[in-house]
Amino acid sequence: MNRSGALPGGYMGRILVVDLDTGVIDEEVLPGAVYDEGLYGPGLASRMLLERIPPGADPMGADNILAFTPGLLTGTGCLFAGRWTVAGKSPLTGGWGDANCGGNFSPAIKQCGYDGIFFRGASDHPVYLDVRDGKAELRDAGRFWGMDTVETETLLAGGGKGKKSVVAAIGPAGEKRSLIAGIANDGGRMAARSGLGAVMGSKNLKALVLSGNRRVPVFDREAVKRLSKSCSRWVSLKIPLPAGPVMSRVGTLFRVMPLQAAQDGLFYNSLLRKWGTVSMNRASVEMGDAPVKNWAGSNEDYPFDRSRSIDPDVFRKTEVVRYHCYSCPLGCGAVSSLRGKFTRSHRPEYETVTAFGPLCLNTDGDSIFYINELLNRAGMDTISAGATVAFAMECMEQGILTKSDLDGIDLAWGNADAVIALLYRMIRREGIGDVLADGVKKAAERIGGGAGALAMHAGGQELPMHDGRNDPGFALHYAAEPAPGRHTTGAWLYYEMFQLWRKVPGLPRPPLLYPKKSRYEEAPEKAAMAAACSKYMNVANSAGLCLFGLFLGAHRIPVFEWLNAVTGRERTATETMEIGKRIQTAKQRFNLRHGVAPRSVTVPPRALGQPPQKRGANRNRTVDLEALKKEYWRAFGWDPETGAP
Ligand code: SF4
Repeated sequence: MNRSGALPGGYMGRILVVDLDTGVIDEEVLPGAVYDEGLYGPGLASRMLLERIPPGADPMGADNILAFTPGLLTGTGCLFAGRWTVAGKSPLTGGWGDANCGGNFSPAIKQCGYDGIFFRGASDHPVYLDVRDGKAELRDAGRFWGMDTVETETLLAGGGKGKKSVVAAIGPAGEKRSLIAGIANDGGRMAARSGLGAVMGSKNLKALVLSGNRRVPVFDREAVKRLSKSCSRWVSLKIPLPAGPVMSRVGTLFRVMPLQAAQDGLFYNSLLRKWGTVSMNRASVEMGDAPVKNWAGSNEDYPFDRSRSIDPDVFRKTEVVRYHCYSCPLGCGAVSSLRGKFTRSHRPEYETVTAFGPLCLNTDGDSIFYINELLNRAGMDTISAGATVAFAMECMEQGILTKSDLDGIDLAWGNADAVIALLYRMIRREGIGDVLADGVKKAAERIGGGAGALAMHAGGQELPMHDGRNDPGFALHYAAEPAPGRHTTGAWLYYEMFQLWRKVPGLPRPPLLYPKKSRYEEAPEKAAMAAACSKYMNVANSAGLCLFGLFLGAHRIPVFEWLNAVTGRERTATETMEIGKRIQTAKQRFNLRHGVAPRSVTVPPRALGQPPQKRGANRNRTVDLEALKKEYWRAFGWDPETGAP
């Protein structure tokens, strides 16, 4: 199957299939085509779920399949290769759903000897899957039902003899089938998007508990070592950085500069090492990247002198210890100390801080730490939850919801206590919380009265915290990806940082400086850039690689070379990108098979500058999303009108 005729490196050769209807657990040997096509992780899941989930299946029913997959490069000595992906039919969008996460869960799947763990059916009582010493069994989870993700993990991880197990679990939000529920591991890191925590809840599956010691086969370990060494030199390169407030002013500079500079991710690498993703929160508001006031406001509504609480130095002061995912040399995470009910928490990420800061006009930094831990423990997606709270705030401002509709909560902009009170109701599905617990699309349908115009989602999934009016690539990917409303698949910024033109012949090289207005102009190279981002991210996610590592640039992080060294294949970068295209095509086919017409997925006019804003960083900016979508599909060789492969 490779140069020596053996199983390609990186693969474990079998998957675990758990039927929750019958309790039967089987091992399946992967079909040869999987190796031939180079599929893994979400790529493997896309092929299997396309074949095995019947059209029209209820996402919350027994026919839905939930796939937990590690990365092809996980456990091989490659860096940044510790991410795992969960995939299934999304109850939020009705189409392809996936979410990925770091921590230590990806290697744990491979150490148990599997290329993936697939669940079908639904148990009639709460269970968890325990895999230990090569034996897999379903166990009763009755006593864990109702516990939060951290409590569950703590109890289940220490449950066996000897080596601690690695756990992924849902919290109360997933149990109550909130459609914005995620799946957590490593003390509250979350595979948050697509509502797959609700699917896990619908299957009465509380957790996966994994313990194993299998080694991952690697074709050429020496080559992997050599490549990893040269990559780590770039990661450890230190660029001197100013204090947080000065750094945040870079956002102001970006706003006022008439020209746009192509970004090099080496700088971002340094920011992440010093501050984590919160390095950009304050700067993003300034430059127009962070949405403000449910996407209706601008940086002028969350001015620099009122945004001190989200300055990166504020987060740094609470840092207790740095956090690295498995095989990550960078370590953008940290554990923070908190005051009050929770004493420790993963430091909030950029998305969480924006969702509960500028999006809700909240300037109370302590509340954001608290909310972050509350939602991580509840197992609820912080992006979707923040978007839903901001939506409810605007509903109240516009008189669509009254204080009495909101169970007496005074949900005025910026009222942090009211936000927390509302979140508790959403987690418990009490009163107004039950109306809002399934995200903005469902909430708007339930509320009526014009609420739909305030619901900021793409295809049912709440928009993430990057404004397409600042970078239209985000808007395009929000609408055109098979899993819509995602910020991790592409943008003009990502294309610049990926520097794929250095490895993949024929891709356009952006100029170092260019007029800002050209970002909004249609041009064939835009579609080529976006399609390249999607293909590359499919490859990277299947490999288990972290997006932040990719920001180093393809000439510094040897993605294509690692894949060849691990598997023993000799694919060119172009051939590897074709694998990415195959994965994208399978996901797009999945949507069509399940009745999701790609054309129907769009971004609300407000987030496209239709009509354009009159003030702030994004004033007079409009995105022609329909034109971008057509060209993007054409770049894939699909029907530009329908998006059908
Ligand atoms: S850069 Fe951050 S998110 Fe990515 S693997 Fe490293 S610690 Fe995890």
